[in-house]
Amino acid sequence: MKPFLKLRRLQDIDLRQKRVLVRVDFNVPMENGRVSDASRIKATLPTLNYLIEQKAKIALISHLGRPKEGEHDRFSLMPVAAVLKQLLGREVLFSENCVGPQALEKVKELGSGEVCLLENLRFYPQEEANDAEFAKTLSQYGEVFVQEAFGSLHRAHASTDGIPKHLPGAIGFLVQRELEFLERVVNNPERPFLAIIGGAKVSDKILVLRRLMERVDMLIIGGGMAYTFLEAQGVNIGNSLLEKDRLREAQEIIERAYSRRVDFLLPADHVMVEKIDPAAKIEVSQAMGLRSGMIGVDIGPNSVEIFEDRIEKAKTIFWNGPMGIFEMPPFSKGSLAIAKAVAAATERGAVTIVGGGDSLALLTQSRLRDQITHCSTGGGASLELLEGKVLPGLAALAYS
Ligand code: AMP
Repeated sequence: MKPFLKLRRLQDIDLRQKRVLVRVDFNVPMENGRVSDASRIKATLPTLNYLIEQKAKIALISHLGRPKEGEHDRFSLMPVAAVLKQLLGREVLFSENCVGPQALEKVKELGSGEVCLLENLRFYPQEEANDAEFAKTLSQYGEVFVQEAFGSLHRAHASTDGIPKHLPGAIGFLVQRELEFLERVVNNPERPFLAIIGGAKVSDKILVLRRLMERVDMLIIGGGMAYTFLEAQGVNIGNSLLEKDRLREAQEIIERAYSRRVDFLLPADHVMVEKIDPAAKIEVSQAMGLRSGMIGVDIGPNSVEIFEDRIEKAKTIFWNGPMGIFEMPPFSKGSLAIAKAVAAATERGAVTIVGGGDSLALLTQSRLRDQITHCSTGGGASLELLEGKVLPGLAALAYS
């Protein structure tokens, strides 16, 4: 996808016995001080086990959430160290600060094959400010830098853009896998290629929609963003979510679908309510249009059937974004049906790629995550890659 970016892979550099600084994405969901979903930690295991085999001395850095002053307990990475210890089956040291003499000492004392996780980078505003001194300090922890935080590559922070200025760097196995699959979507999809795009905002996904439109054979738009497209078609959307300033762009996408002969699908019916409330009385619309005053909160049963039919036909499927307000169980049926259908497509040989926190949450909730060819760990980063943008975290690692 980025033929002009030359990137070293983990396996291209000599790591034996070296001190290796790894930027991981341990930005995991937490509940009551415990890690509630360890998928992002598990995703780094191939790289970490490889480094351990190489007898490297491994320092791990990550961010977690968006901590404000005085919120250090809530956003500590300490519970992550405990989970990582279990998953690796070996001791994981923890440094209560990511910079400072103690952190440096801890890292310098690491033996071959030992692992130390340093505290949340975002306890220092210098991380997001891409502060040069901060990056330089962090770079002292390694002789080599490995970038494994796919979900952070679209941000130019100290740990993505800054550190590679001081250390030779490579991309880890997870980043390699992410690039391989997303590249396949853009450059070489087995056809028919279907993209399913949902979620709330057209504005967030307009660029990716435009680019995908040039490559897909079938495109499904669901979720709140579908209503701007329906409005652009003159359909009554009642009080559903609408981005008035995106109507023209929505119309252009529809026109492009016609001229490219893309099989373009919007919801054919809707689950609708008078008020967004899980206890609200549910009605199903009889057709594409809603009754005035009603709000569309999920795709209806006819839409599910039509979408399932396209999912069955596709050989490559990219899915990002829910079909409704899935956080409220009465409005989650459509999204769950799509999750099931996409998982079933993998079973019969389709390549399925799912990105975005909400779609992944749906798969995890229905225990279908293992049945997807590739779950992207970075929603924002995967969308920006698909939009054709150069990710700052990759540009920083590229050599000429
Ligand atoms: P995004 O972050 O753009 O992928 O959007 C995800 C959010 O879209 C989720 O929190 C959903 O609750 C929301 N969403 C999906 N469908 C609808 C809808 N019909 N109306 C309002 N919000 C929706």
